Amino acid sequence: MKFKIVFFTWIIIFSNPTIASQDYKLLSGVAKQGGFIVLQVAKGSLVEYKKKTIKADKKNRVLIAFSRDDSPKQQFKLITKAGDISFPTINIITRSYEEQRINGLPKNKVSPDKKTSDKIWADILKAKQARKINLPLAYFESGFIWPASGIVSGVYGSRRILNGQPKRPHYGIDIAAAKGTALYSPADGKITLQENMVLSGKTIMIDHGYGLRSTLMHLSEVSVNKADIVKKGQLVGKIGMTGRATGPHVHWGMSWHNIRLDPALTITKTIKKGDKVFR
Ligand SMILES: [Zn+2]
Repeated sequence: MKFKIVFFTWIIIFSNPTIASQDYKLLSGVAKQGGFIVLQVAKGSLVEYKKKTIKADKKNRVLIAFSRDDSPKQQFKLITKAGDISFPTINIITRSYEEQRINGLPKNKVSPDKKTSDKIWADILKAKQARKINLPLAYFESGFIWPASGIVSGVYGSRRILNGQPKRPHYGIDIAAAKGTALYSPADGKITLQENMVLSGKTIMIDHGYGLRSTLMHLSEVSVNKADIVKKGQLVGKIGMTGRATGPHVHWGMSWHNIRLDPALTITKTIKKGDKVFR
């Protein structure tokens, strides 16, 4: 009997706080196309996933994310401090996306002139540079909120097929609200981009650390500057329709490095066009 108690205590003390060297544990997040997860791995481990090498942080955590069209079985390489290698598989939930076909549109209705197209390419480059930043600060730990109250007018992943030509999927969520509606930071972060762009209008990028970031587009006013540290719920600007927008709304995009994620998954697992969201 005495032996049993001692043995049980040993299990609690020695096996509970740490995890086996070739094992991992899901700490948070959504294992779904467009989602991200935080894994706990053994101290000093490295994860190789999607051509990225990610070192476990001080709390032995690693953040990885899944793209719109990732297959249901996602494998990563886990390398322990001692050099042991394993290939765990994570089962992720796949989704179906809306498709909208529009035919009979006049050809080249929107073809930018040379000057505009040069500016568009310069904008793309600036956004690309900002996505290369890899802040080692876990701002995302604050959790997420809707950046504004309004009506969902566009969801992640939907694709428009114009004159039979598939266009780039919609990588974000659109929240429609009156021009001037207050816009807040969805989570803690650092402003890594603040630009007036041709397509996305007045745009800010909020870096949440570990390669994760939010982009807010089409603002009428911006009230933060590049390099500012913002808190979840802090006013960052106002909703507008700058850039190429057909009505006042905010496009909230999210990415992990170069992979586009679904920001809605940070708050809810079910969202559809016409839903009301509240900050
Ligand atoms: Zn949008």
